[in-house]
Amino acid sequence: MNSPQPFVAHKFGGSSMRDAERIARVAAILAARDGEPQVIVVSAMQGVTDALIALANSAAARSEVWRDALSQLRERHLTAALALLGAQAEATVEWLEREFADLADVLHALALLGTPSREALDLVQGLGEVWSSRLLAEHFRVRGDAAVWCDAREVLRVRAEELGVMVDWPSSQAHFDTFRERHPGSRYVVTGFVARDGEGRATTLGRNGSDYSGAIFGALADAAEVHIWTDVDGVYSADPRAVPEAVLIPELSYHEACELAYFGAKVIHPQTMAPAIERQIPIYIRNTFNPEHRGSRISAERSLEPPVKGVSAFGGLAILNVEGAGMIGVPGTAERVFGALRHGGISVVMISQGSSEHSICCVVREAEVDRAERLLDDAFRRELDRGLIERIAITRAISVLAVVGDGMAGHPGTAARLFDQLGRGRINVRAIAQGASERNISVAIDTADAARALRAVHAGF
Ligand code: ADP
Ligand code: ASP
Ligand code: MG
Repeated sequence: MNSPQPFVAHKFGGSSMRDAERIARVAAILAARDGEPQVIVVSAMQGVTDALIALANSAAARSEVWRDALSQLRERHLTAALALLGAQAEATVEWLEREFADLADVLHALALLGTPSREALDLVQGLGEVWSSRLLAEHFRVRGDAAVWCDAREVLRVRAEELGVMVDWPSSQAHFDTFRERHPGSRYVVTGFVARDGEGRATTLGRNGSDYSGAIFGALADAAEVHIWTDVDGVYSADPRAVPEAVLIPELSYHEACELAYFGAKVIHPQTMAPAIERQIPIYIRNTFNPEHRGSRISAERSLEPPVKGVSAFGGLAILNVEGAGMIGVPGTAERVFGALRHGGISVVMISQGSSEHSICCVVREAEVDRAERLLDDAFRRELDRGLIERIAITRAISVLAVVGDGMAGHPGTAARLFDQLGRGRINVRAIAQGASERNISVAIDTADAARALRAVHAGF
């Protein structure tokens, strides 16, 4: 007997789900893949997550603007429902009205409390995916194509850990299998971004996390491929919005994609690769607005040419520099610096230490730098008082730029070329780090220089 055809996972981002016209386009792309079993994971309509977060914050701040913002959001979804479902919209419209009435209750409670609780924010910010996925599933039905709607909060179990949100695989798999037994089908439309934590509370996978949902549901459905559909043809050598000369990368390895994503290539969320690596599922990045294009393929295959595949950069960072002659030759100083930051729950983006040991420098998020400074101040109070550490210096408005490629390891000229380009562009490098894998070299620079640096470095490779 032939084994049944495997599932393919498809994830559509906010730009692909922006309005009724685009949601209908998504359904058409999927329906054209005739006979393919599909697990389809979708983001909220573009801008809705931002709007929901703003709603929760303004309600908690007791600013009355939340009522208008809520009615705009309701209007936007009702309009899409009517356009997508026509004469069959009634039940979905009623459902949406109940959803918005519930949301109004939550916001009202936040306004009474006068503070946005973590739990309320987690619940509210994930609602956009609940609505958009329901609209797509209903639209399939109206088209005459069967589809089962799956609210990921009924399936996906996660816990927040230091390195990000981790999936509880045994429990999620058991829930997914049960769901499929109860709702047999060959096309599932799943809410991206949302999940439940160990206590059963609604939570999310972090901003831009629907890509990760796509790979997770691909793994749960034992999919043969994961397709991430967005608004560009694939992964480019740099963000095409910032570097118009950027070129498409047809093939890249999981590790290259992880590094590019970690250093700011927004086209894919850095955690997306983990479930795919585990099961060796290839990921394709594809364009909803150019569906004939094959896109970029991300897989375990490594190609060492060209040595540098891409450049990415991200900002909103700050440098913390712990300096002092009293640190020279004193073992354990770096450990104490990073220990203090870890205990404070501050994630360190990049580390660099001069070989003189005269200073330890690390890059953290700018929003956390004041807290980080206080933690280090406490940890090194004695050394600071005795002058063994001269100061803890902060530099704000920092970006990190990284060049990434599996082939860099065997290629000694890469660093020279990078610094040559930065030098020619008169870009001041404040700190340097190289991943032990030699798959990336990253530099900290002023955010004011970042756009120029990205183009200069891109031109050099
Ligand atoms: P979606 O709504 O589909 O999740 P995103 O806006 O999150 O889409 O990601 C797509 C965007 O990522 C592109 O429009 C592009 O500007 C940006 N981007 C950043 N770096 C890269 C890169 N290296 N290759 C392609 N796109 C990139
Ligand atoms: N809607 C969520 C966000 O804007 C998740 C996603 O789109 O990936 O962050
Ligand atoms: Mg995205």
